[in-house]
Order: sequence, then C-alpha cells, then structure tokens
Amino acid sequence: MSNTDNTSHPTNFIRQIIEADLTAGKNRGRVATRFPPEPNGYLHIGHAKSVVLNFGIAEDYNGTCNLRFDDTNPHKENLEFVEAIKKDVQWLGYGWSDRVFFASDYFEQLYDYAVRLIIKGKAYADDLSPDETRQYRGTLTEPGKNSPYRDRSVDENLDLFQRMRAGEFADGAKVLRAKIDMASPNINLRDPTIYRIRRGVMHHQTGEEWCIYPMYDYTHCLSDAIEGITHSLCTLEFEDHRSLYDWFLDELDTPCHPQQIEFSRLNVEHTVTSKRKLTELVEEGYVEGWDDPRMPTIAGMRRRGYTPNSIREFCRRVGVTKADNLVEMALLEDCIRTDLNSNAPRRMAVLHPLKVIITNYPKERDEETLTAANHPQDESMSTRAIPFSHELYIDRHDFMEEPPKKFKRLIPGGEVRLRNAYVIRCDEVIKDEHGAVVELRCSYDPETLGKNPEGRKVKGVVHWVSARHAVEAEVRLYDRLFSHPTPDATKDGSDHRKHINPDSLRTLTHCHLEPSLAEARLGDAFQFEREGYFCLDSMHTPGNKPIYNRTITLRDTWAKMAKTNK
Ligand code: ATP
Ligand code: MG
Repeated sequence: MSNTDNTSHPTNFIRQIIEADLTAGKNRGRVATRFPPEPNGYLHIGHAKSVVLNFGIAEDYNGTCNLRFDDTNPHKENLEFVEAIKKDVQWLGYGWSDRVFFASDYFEQLYDYAVRLIIKGKAYADDLSPDETRQYRGTLTEPGKNSPYRDRSVDENLDLFQRMRAGEFADGAKVLRAKIDMASPNINLRDPTIYRIRRGVMHHQTGEEWCIYPMYDYTHCLSDAIEGITHSLCTLEFEDHRSLYDWFLDELDTPCHPQQIEFSRLNVEHTVTSKRKLTELVEEGYVEGWDDPRMPTIAGMRRRGYTPNSIREFCRRVGVTKADNLVEMALLEDCIRTDLNSNAPRRMAVLHPLKVIITNYPKERDEETLTAANHPQDESMSTRAIPFSHELYIDRHDFMEEPPKKFKRLIPGGEVRLRNAYVIRCDEVIKDEHGAVVELRCSYDPETLGKNPEGRKVKGVVHWVSARHAVEAEVRLYDRLFSHPTPDATKDGSDHRKHINPDSLRTLTHCHLEPSLAEARLGDAFQFEREGYFCLDSMHTPGNKPIYNRTITLRDTWAKMAKTNK
C-alpha cells in the first residue's frame, strides 16, 4: 500500500497467486493477462489501475498482455473510442505489439460454441418477451420458473438459432439461453441469455455481417480461453459471474481454462468513474469533451498535464486488494506534484499583471539579459536567459497599499526582490479615476543582482516579466470537477450533476509569460514559479495566442481549506 518506489511493483494478493502458480508449474510457467475495455467511452483513472495491473504483471513475469476490445454491443461502441483507448494505453507506457484483438474476431467461433451447447442440450431458443423473462427469473429470495420453451428439441433449437442468425426474427422476438438452473441461488445461473437479436446495426468491426450478438458473460470467458489467458483479472462486481464463466468453459471443454480473479474497483474522491456518467457529462455539455482537462479520463489528464509516470505511481500506491477503494484526490495530486517538482523546469509568468516602471533604469541601456537556473536543485537542467528592461509586470497580488502585518511583498515605500534579478523599491503608486492601482513607479538598486543589499533585509521575492519581451497568453486554472467528495454516493441520494464545482474552470485572458516560453512544445511541463505547474493546451494552434493549462497548484490548497474550516 505504501510502496512509493517508482521502479518496482509492490506485491499484492494477485501477484502472490501468480507466483504460487509459477512455483507449482501451472500453465507450464506461462503468464498471460489481458486488458479488456469495451469501446463505449474513453478510459478513466479506474481503467488505469487495470492497465497498470495487467500490463505490469506481464512485464514482471515475462508474460504477455493482450489488448482486447470487448465489442459485443455495437450501438454503444465506435471506432473513435477504439482509437482513443489505444492511444491512452500507449501513452501510459504500455505496448501490445501484434496482440490487439476484438471479441468480434471470435464471432464465428462463438457461434460454433453456441451450436455445441445446443447439441449438448445445454442451450435453447426462448420466445419469452423481456417482461416475461424478468417475471420468470424470480428474485434473490424466490427461485425462478422454467420457460415454457425450455424443453425444445435439439433439432428445433438448431433450426431456430440458425434462423436467428439469418435475420428471420425481429429484435427481441427470440434469444438463445444457456440451460443451467432456474432455481439456482445465483441469479446469474438462471438460464442466462447468451445471444440476442440486433438487426440493422452497423458494427465498427464486422459491419452488417451479424444480426445476433453474443452477451458479455458468454463472450468474455470464451475470448479469454481462445487467447490462452492464464489469469483473467476483473473487478469485484464479476465475482458472482465467476461460476457462470466456469460453467461455459467446463461445458465447452475449452483447451485452456483461465482463472478469474477479482479485485476492487478504484474510486477517487471528487470525481466519478462510471462510463455512463462520464458520457452524460460530455453529451449534456457539462464539460468540453472526453479530453476536458477536468475529466478523470486519461485523455483529460494528459491534456491537463498529468504525466504517465505519475499515474502509474498513483496506481502502485493505491495497490490491489479486495477492499472497497475510495482514494483521496490528494494522493493522485501528490504523485503529480512529486513528478513535476523533479522534472519541470522553472519559468516566470505573471497571471494578474500590474505594470511596474523602473524609473532609474538607464535610458541608454534599454535592456539587459539575465541568467536564471531552470531548477533550484538540479543543475543538470541548466540555465536560461531572461530579458530585463525598464517596464515590467509583476502580479497584482504581490502589491498591497494597506497590507496586513505579515505581508512580505511590495508595499508603498517598501522593497522586494525581483526573482533572479534586482531589488526594487516602490516610490509611487499610480491610480486610475476610480482609484484602482494601474501602475507602480519603482527604483532598482543595480548593486543587488544576485546578492543582498548591505545592511538591509529584503524578505519578499516576487516573480516578474519584462513587458516588452513577454509572450501574452491565456491561462486556464482548473479545480476539482465536483465539490462533493463522493458526488455519485451522497447521503441524500442527489444526482452527481448537482455537485459540479462552479469554479472548476477559471480563464485568465491577459497573462504575460517570460519569452523562453514561446518555444514551449506540446507535452512540455513547466513550473511557473509561485503559481503551480502548467503545460500548453493541446487545442493550441501555432501562430495563435498560446493557451496554458494549470496542471496542479504548488500545494494542496484543499487540505489547507479543510484545516481553516475547522
Ligand atoms: P463502466 O462500468 O463504467 O462502464 P466498465 O468496467 O464496464 O466501466 P470496461 O471497458 O468494461 O469498463 O473496463 C475494462 C476493464 O477495466 C475491466 O476489466 C474493468 O474491470 C476495469 N475497470 C473499469 N473500471 C475500473 C475501476 N474503477 N477500477 C479498476 N478497474 C476498472
Ligand atoms: Mg465492463
């Protein structure tokens, strides 16, 4: 749980099972896992846990991990999702070489398996309507009843199933069901549907070739078996499906019998990780799209500036157990900060500009070039040039006319150090006709570059940019998408959409960045000193005013808020 080593995986109960299997010589020493997304949405932080688990195990035990799309539900799935999922898995740092599969690759084989079940007397075509099927199913406390069609002959079932495939029946007119036990205490075993009719839908892989589609439970275990998966890792909600999974594999006597092992889903506070709910946020316009930087999707986190390294580290820290897993957002944010703190070069950017005129800066000098370290601890990150001139911007919040006692920044008549440059003193405050401060007239001390003035204590250090050289930019400040820690599990049962944080996005349109940022490329991360970590937004197009996303603040402001609220 608390292993923070970024190079090795902490052990967990699944790894222990695998190691025991390897020691016992099970599966002839082979380890084969798979990550099986349904292409009906983008991957989210919960999926990342499953990706890291499955691909990580394959890496560490010299095994393989397949990427398999569980594509049995054509009306909700599409190619955009397929491509987005591939991109995200790759970005997280994992590859599958030629081991990318689709459950639909096996449709013919799955059909043959169904025919085999019919021949064994283990599957039948049923004409009950969906409503009747529900009534016949029984409840948790009452057994179900057999369908009147349950005892059809093998020949009749073969004929009907073949005609279902040929498109002779309307959607819902018939299904194929496994013949197991309508009185089973496990409802999943009460003759589950294994095929249903969906005519006239276009499937992104198989087009209009099929008008019957296999159900998830049936498809999933057989796809695992066809691919020779040794350990089929899934989330806890499938625990009750395991006996059905095993029933199919045993009845069909597949050459490989993967072992299903369940682990708990990852839930993160202040967000939702249900694809249905995320789809709603996109479709109902609460966010800009699947890759909105506030979304808990991999695409959103990438656009926001989270790094693959930090997401993998987060998954390692969260661990893999069977216990309910509601993790604080602060844990994820801490992983991002730790990574960016070591790796992001420092820059200066003024988000709320206030003009400063250096009145004693020699006119003939016009400008000069100063040098600043890119990282306070890591010298290997080298230095950069920053221009200084007589007209600068500092942040509005770094000046106060009537400051509280502990205010260490600029005040009328006071001094402050400009980061990487000189000490300045504020001599005059210029205001507009409404009394708002619009400019400061300051003088600089040329003797203070890189050293403190003798006998004077200058406590405050503020960031700045040279007005003439600065790059103007739009900066987007993000906060948590939901103000409620568990938006989809509130005490009063209210809808998660009611808990959207109204301040989750703030846009600052006139920010000034130091000129070296003109060369920033997509994917570069920076610390804007004293402001947080930032990256160029992927919607930015060269030639236009750059848009920067704040990835994360420097400190956990929510923890601070929680403290002061006490
Ligand atoms: P949803 O229920 O929101 O539609 P899903 O679980 O059906 O999500 P899939 O595309 O089927 O989404 O998931 C692919 C894999 O990722 C599955 O093995 C699933 O168990 C796993 N997974 C999905 N959500 C989480 C989560 N929150 N934590 C851990 N693993 C998850
Ligand atoms: Mg699923």
